[in-house]
Amino acid sequence: MQSLLDAIYEEIKPMLGQGKVADYIPALASVDPFQFGIAICDNNGEITQVGNANTAFSIQSISKVFNLVLAMTHYDDNLWQRVGCEPSGLPFNSLVQLEYENGIPRNPFINAGALLISDIVQSRFASPQLAMRDFVRTLSGNTEIHSNPVVADSEYAHRDRNAAMAYLMRDYKNFDNEVEDVLSSYFFNCALEMSCVDLARAINFLANRGYSLMAQKQILTPDQSRQVNALLATSGMYDEAGSFAFNVGLPGKSGVGGGIVAVVPGRFSICVFSPALNKVGNSVLGVAALESLSKRIGWSVY
Ligand code: GLN
Repeated sequence: MQSLLDAIYEEIKPMLGQGKVADYIPALASVDPFQFGIAICDNNGEITQVGNANTAFSIQSISKVFNLVLAMTHYDDNLWQRVGCEPSGLPFNSLVQLEYENGIPRNPFINAGALLISDIVQSRFASPQLAMRDFVRTLSGNTEIHSNPVVADSEYAHRDRNAAMAYLMRDYKNFDNEVEDVLSSYFFNCALEMSCVDLARAINFLANRGYSLMAQKQILTPDQSRQVNALLATSGMYDEAGSFAFNVGLPGKSGVGGGIVAVVPGRFSICVFSPALNKVGNSVLGVAALESLSKRIGWSVY
C-alpha cells in the first residue's frame, strides 16, 4: 500500500499548481493551493498515507454524506419522498431544475438536496450542529474535530443562492424549518475541518457494509450502505459524475475545499486532498490521483 501511494505521489506532484482554489467563499480563497495528501484506511483500520494527509481542511460538500447518513439513521424510507436519487447533470448550486421538479431536489448531494437533508436533521435534533460534529468525531475517532466559524460566517454572508433554493423548497411545502436556521446548520457542516486520515477513517463504514470500526457499531445496514455508495457513484462528483465513473469507477464525494473521499467496497476507503479545483468544483489533483489509483489497483465497481 505504501509503495502504491508513493508512486501516485511521484506521478501527481508535477501537476501541483494546476486549477484554482474556490474563491466564491472568501474565507477559502487564501488556502495554499500547493498542498496534496492521500490517506487510505483498510477494513482492518490500518492507515497508509502520503503528503499532507494530516492537514485539516474544510470538508465542504463531503459533509453532505455524513448529513445524509445521520438522516437515514433516524428516518425510514419516507425520506426518499422528499429528495430523489437521480444524478442532476447540472452544477451543484443550480436552481433551474428545482422549479421544474416542484421543489424536490434530484439527489442529496447537490446543494438543494443537502439543504433538504439539513431541514430533516434540523427537525430531529435539539442541536443539529453538535449532532453532526459528534457524529464525525465518533466515525473518525478524533475528538478534536471542529467547525471553523470564520468559514461558516463567510458562507453565511454569501448565502444568497443557497437561501434562494431553500426558500423555493419552502414555497413548494418541502421545507419545515426556518430557512435561516437550516442555512446556519448547513454552513456549520460545510465548515467542519478534517484531515485525509480523519476522513478516510470516517467514511470507512461504507467500504465495510455499514460497520464502523472506529465507532465499533453498525452505522447503516448493509443495504443502506449499498444505497449510499450507489448515490455517490451516480451523483457524488456533481456534473463530472459520468467521467469520474468512466475513469475511476468508484463511489466518491468531492468538496470545494479540495477533498475527495472514495470507497472501494469490501476493501478500503480513501481520502485525497489538494485545494485547487477544476471548472466543476472538483480537486484537479484529487481526481488525477484517484484515476491513477484505480488504474494501479485494476479494480472498479463496474
Ligand atoms: N458550502 C459550499 C456551498 O454551499 C459547498 C459546495 C461544495 O463543496 N461543492 O456552495
